[in-house]
Amino acid sequence: MALSEFEIIERIFRRGGNRSDVVLGIGDDAAVVRVRPEQCLAIATDTIVEGVHFPIGTDAADIGYRALAVNLSDLAAMGAEPTWANLALTLPAADQKWLQSFANGFFELADRHQVQLIGGDTTRGPLSISVTLHGWLEHAPGLRRNGARVGDEIIVSGTLGDAAAGLACIMNKEKFAATVAATLAMRFLRPNPRVELGRFLLSRAHSAIDVSDGFLADLSHILRQSGVGATVRTADIPISSVLSGSVPSAQALNHALNGGDDYELCFTLQPARWAEVDAWAKEHGITLTKVGCIEAHPGLRLIDADGKPVDHHISGYRHF
Ligand code: ADP
Ligand code: MG
Repeated sequence: MALSEFEIIERIFRRGGNRSDVVLGIGDDAAVVRVRPEQCLAIATDTIVEGVHFPIGTDAADIGYRALAVNLSDLAAMGAEPTWANLALTLPAADQKWLQSFANGFFELADRHQVQLIGGDTTRGPLSISVTLHGWLEHAPGLRRNGARVGDEIIVSGTLGDAAAGLACIMNKEKFAATVAATLAMRFLRPNPRVELGRFLLSRAHSAIDVSDGFLADLSHILRQSGVGATVRTADIPISSVLSGSVPSAQALNHALNGGDDYELCFTLQPARWAEVDAWAKEHGITLTKVGCIEAHPGLRLIDADGKPVDHHISGYRHF
C-alpha cells in the first residue's frame, strides 16, 4: 500500500520516545533537546545510497539497520555516547511494507543504543538514506585521528575482511558454501558498531578511527593526521576462522587489509595501557589484537611472520 508523506511520518517513524532529554520530538518544525552543561556534542552524518553502499534489492530491514549502524560507528570512533538521530529519507515509492521493515531494522539498533529518532525529512527520488547522529562527549575533543604517538601499539577490534567477503558473495563475485555465505553476508549487512569500546577508549587511547573504507586506508588517515608512520605485521591481522577456512590466505588477507565495511575500531595505545584495555575488552566479549606499532618514519610498512617486507598497495574505497 502506498502512503502519503504525512502517513509515513505518523505511522512509521513517530513512535513514543523514551529519552527524557527530548523536549520535542517528531511533529513540529524542529526538534528540541535539553543539553548537559559543561559537555560537548559529537555530531556525525553518513549517507548510504542504493547501488553504491548496498546492492540493489537489499532487504529493507538491513538497510534501516545499516543506515544507523554506520553513524553509530563514527560516534564510537570519537568515544561518544549516542543520543538523538535525524533521518533524511529519499524514496522512489512510499510502500508501507517496505517502510515498516526499514523502520524495524532502524529501531532495533536505535533501541539497543538508547538512540531516539527526533526528526528528519522525507522526499521522493532514488533510494538514499542520510542519518545525522548526535552523542555526548564526556571529554572534549574526543578520540581524534591525530593523536598517535611514536611507540604506540596499533590495535584492532574483532576481525577484518568478513564484510568485504560478504559483499563479494552477495554480488555473486565470490562463491562460498551456503552456511559460510550467510555468516559473511550478515557481517556486511549487520555490522556491530563498537560504541561501548569507543567510550571506554575515550580517556585511554591516543587515536582512533572506525574501519569503514579498508584497514590500510583508514590506518593511513591516523598516520597522516598524526604525522607518524607504522609497521604492521600481516601475520597478526585478525581474520575470522569462517573467512580463513573458505578462501586462500592471500585472498583473506586482501579482504582484511583493503576491504571496507567492517566497522571495527582501529586505535593506538601506549603499551603500558594494553593490559587494562584488553582486560576490559575480554570482560565485554570483544577480541582485541595488536597488529603493529607507530614509528617516527612516515609511511606504512607491512612485514610478514619472518619480518620480511610485504608489497602492498592501499585500495580502500573511494567515491571519486
Ligand atoms: P517541513 O515541511 O516543515 O519540513 P515535514 O513534513 O518535512 O515538515 O516534517 C514534519 C515532521 O516530521 C518534522 O518534525 C520532521 O522532523 C519529521 N520527519 C519528516 N520526515 C521524517 C523521517 N523520515 N523520519 C523522522 N522524522 C521525520
Ligand atoms: Mg521537511
